[in-house]
Amino acid sequence: MKARRKPIRGAGQRRRSAQTRSRETQSITPPIPTSFRVGLGNDIHRLAYGRRLVLGGVTIPSKKGSVGHSDGDALAHAICDALLGAAGKGDIGRHFSDRSSKWQGVSSLLFLRHVRTVLDNAGLAIINLDCTVGLERPRLTPYMTRMQKRLASALRIRGDQISIKAKSGEEIGAVGRGEAVRADAVALVCDLRRTLCPHHSRSADPSVASSAR
Ligand SMILES: [Zn+2]
Repeated sequence: MKARRKPIRGAGQRRRSAQTRSRETQSITPPIPTSFRVGLGNDIHRLAYGRRLVLGGVTIPSKKGSVGHSDGDALAHAICDALLGAAGKGDIGRHFSDRSSKWQGVSSLLFLRHVRTVLDNAGLAIINLDCTVGLERPRLTPYMTRMQKRLASALRIRGDQISIKAKSGEEIGAVGRGEAVRADAVALVCDLRRTLCPHHSRSADPSVASSAR
């Protein structure tokens, strides 16, 4: 086959390419100096007979439980991903490989404690978490307060910083057929090193305040 010859570009064409590149560079909006960062996490686990159903660190009486390498706590895993995402520190798989026997059967609250340390090291404070759990049965309402307390304790935040909602799957899809449990979480964090955060106690620290200004 005959090799296609590369077209020779003239000076005018080169100038136009340079102008296009320059316009593209100019159109990139510089990052707005803000102290807030948002993160999104979701997780799904298959449900099977003979397994424990753990959500938000609470064991929920159920015929079926979640299949997973750890305790299969989809809610805790979604929160981990939301917080790690907000921090720009990857995802839960990067920090806790499901190939490592170290994490087999462990409580996912341990992952949350680790994530809190990651945030501390990055100078990030948690503002709030909003979560939704998709589960066909049982109803989660009686366990919500306990889940909220367990999660808050592992993350060393107040209970009112975590909102948990429950949704059934309306008999549609894997959740609706009772084959899976799903969790979604959104996290808002505050960069304490970048600016003064009025919602966090560290803002009272004069060293934080002066460096932020
Ligand atoms: Zn998971």
